[in-house]
Amino acid sequence: MRVLVALGGNAMTAADGSARVEDQIAAAASAMDSVADLVADGADVVITHGNGPQVGNLLVKNELSAAVVPPVPLDWCGAQTQATLGFILVNTLEAALALRGLHRPTAAVVTRTLVDPGDPGFARPTKPIGRYLSAEEAAVMVEHGQTFEDRGERGWRRVVASPEPRDILDAGVVTTLADRGYLVVANGGGGIPVVREPDGSLRGVEAVIDKDLGAALLARAIRADLLVVATDVPNAVRGYGTPEATPIGRVTVADLRRLAAEGHFGSGSMGPKVEAVCRFVEQSGHHGVITSLDNIVAGAREASGTVVVPT
Ligand code: ADP
Ligand code: MG
Repeated sequence: MRVLVALGGNAMTAADGSARVEDQIAAAASAMDSVADLVADGADVVITHGNGPQVGNLLVKNELSAAVVPPVPLDWCGAQTQATLGFILVNTLEAALALRGLHRPTAAVVTRTLVDPGDPGFARPTKPIGRYLSAEEAAVMVEHGQTFEDRGERGWRRVVASPEPRDILDAGVVTTLADRGYLVVANGGGGIPVVREPDGSLRGVEAVIDKDLGAALLARAIRADLLVVATDVPNAVRGYGTPEATPIGRVTVADLRRLAAEGHFGSGSMGPKVEAVCRFVEQSGHHGVITSLDNIVAGAREASGTVVVPT
């Protein structure tokens, strides 16, 4: 059974958000410990991951060093984090497998995702990224062509487009490697956003793709039998944060969509996970699971977590 596991960006930093090298490696090791259990359970695993905290840190380096080293665009930041996180994920995964007496080849694939240059996100950027800047600092970056929003007390924050992922261009490589027994890390951060030029060539764009929506598309492209969105809570919750909060267990895609329409899921957090799992289930007829990383084996066995089924 091929399982696509989508890890939150926070799975790669310490619980308090610390992102020192040793913190990121320790967090990856802990995440890959859970993934190795899933491999030991017999699953054929492909991993994708968020990169929000890591891209945020690269943007700070860009800002602080702009007078000395040319700032790099957001698509480069995405490519850099795919490579770095891919590297530490395959290292820690191999180590976790070795502890279980398992030896599987691994690979990290730098993955491009096609977006539509006409996506409404480009005309009206809404996705906040990076740290808060003062009005003066923000003005400098605006001169460099970036879009910033006044967020009141905390200061100004950069906003970028978050276009719909249309096609995972390197999915064929991922499928080939998975078919040959590789455990693959791919499409980190939702993929490096690229647009197709009129002459057929590809160009990276300043945008951020939602990693969960990217995971749904990748899961279909590689013909995954199951999509597991692994986060920091064991279930999607109905009435989250209210006295009536109830964890959602097995649920049909229609019922889950109804709850989403009623506003039960946070827009920048649980909302895209629910949307991603609904899309995958609707389009593939397979099941999707939202659960915590430490529940991943039970989740993939559909014995725990929010298990989304077609009917
Ligand atoms: P990740 O970093 O793993 O992608 P996010 O932080 O984006 O995860 O989303 C998970 C968070 O979503 C949870 O920690 C929780 O605070 C929040 N959340 C919002 N609405 C809900 C809900 N209805 N049920 C469960 N968690 C929710
Ligand atoms: Mg989080």
